[in-house]
Amino acid sequence: MDKRTISFSPPDMGELEEKQVIDTLRSGWITTGPKVKKLEKLLASFLEVDEKAPAVACLGSATASEELILRMLGIGPGDEVIVPAYTYTSSAAAAIHAGAKVIFVDSQPNSVEMDYDKVAEAITDKTKAIIPVDLGGVPCDYDALFSIVTSPEAKTQFRPLSASEDDDELTKLGANIQQKLGRIAIVADGAHALGARRILSHWSGEPEGGERKERKVGSIADFTSFSFHAVKNFTTAEGGAASWNLPFNTAEDNAVMYHWFQLLSLHGQSKDALAKTQVGAWEYDVVAPLYKCNMTDIMGGIGLAQFERYPQLLARRKAIIAKYDEACDALGVDHIVHFTNSYTSSGHLYITRITGCNDEQRREIIQKMAERGVATNVHYKPLPMMTAYKRLGWKIEDFPNAYKLYNNEITLPLHTKLSDEDVDYVIQNFKDVLKSYI
Ligand SMILES: *Cc1c(COP(=O)(O)O)cnc(C)c1O
Repeated sequence: MDKRTISFSPPDMGELEEKQVIDTLRSGWITTGPKVKKLEKLLASFLEVDEKAPAVACLGSATASEELILRMLGIGPGDEVIVPAYTYTSSAAAAIHAGAKVIFVDSQPNSVEMDYDKVAEAITDKTKAIIPVDLGGVPCDYDALFSIVTSPEAKTQFRPLSASEDDDELTKLGANIQQKLGRIAIVADGAHALGARRILSHWSGEPEGGERKERKVGSIADFTSFSFHAVKNFTTAEGGAASWNLPFNTAEDNAVMYHWFQLLSLHGQSKDALAKTQVGAWEYDVVAPLYKCNMTDIMGGIGLAQFERYPQLLARRKAIIAKYDEACDALGVDHIVHFTNSYTSSGHLYITRITGCNDEQRREIIQKMAERGVATNVHYKPLPMMTAYKRLGWKIEDFPNAYKLYNNEITLPLHTKLSDEDVDYVIQNFKDVLKSYI
């Protein structure tokens, strides 16, 4: 077999994306404008959160989306937020930016999902949100999560924020959402999971009495953040979006929340740049000294092109996964399961575990694959192993399952620039390299 060079996750940019970028540059409008607004509407209908008025805001990143969601919920100092130990740093960092205390929870013994019994045990009267992560594109068990937050024990412990007349409008909004919800919020990190679906009985946040419904990630949790970073399934170079699905929201509530995402992401300025270009419309107010993390129309345009191609991109990922599954099953290599009767993954990461191998052998395998031109990766080194979180007092010894998952994990390249021959090349080399290890 001739040597090939297989990158880990290059962006898939085609003619449609090029046309959109050029069109934006020539249009005279390059920052947040019509393309971002159009992308928000398309995503809202794709995620099925548009029944009562669009409930998607495109922003600068998933990290910014998660932070703004927590700020909109009035979560901050004195509050606790439950996050898996086995995830990327931003799932936890956004909560820290908002001023909350992160409480890490270990994984299940043989799954990258959080251990839901431990989630229930971690709840205190300070818990305000749980941040489940749809790792690799596989939707979490949201039925289990909603059972936990709607359980009588969790609901009686819940202390919603209260606001007085003198508080600012954002605090009032947060208090209002927390009081109406009357329970811990589920704020999903769907960074990997655009297009993933799951069959649920609790889809709108309350038990549905046995009726099972298939919902997309984005319209399951109370709030979801998505990433459009360059390595993700759907990319705008950098970028992200927040979606929300509050069971009690009216169309007006959704419009108010959308407006707050605009304020939070654009300096708290009462008029955005587009509105200010109207002749004579110079005057604006600043309602609070807020943040700056809006999406530009250049990114929005790339998103419109990706949106058009997304069904094909997802299908191609599914076909590659089928080949990897067949090869790994034949080799006896553990891998995450992307497609079952109860869920459909977005197929973001092909996570494998070389059972029996230790960290050192895993590093050798990665090195040997690299020598054969194949870039692999590790998802994830658990957060309690990182300097920042060690400094905050977390110890990996308290997360034995996350450590075991990480210890022999290797992620294979999974992206839409891979040809069938590339996939065969990855599989052949993986088999050859693994011969001396399993
Ligand atoms: C990439 C990623 C993010 C952050 O996305 P940004 O858009 O870069 O902020 C958050 N969570 C997970 C699990 C990710 O992999």
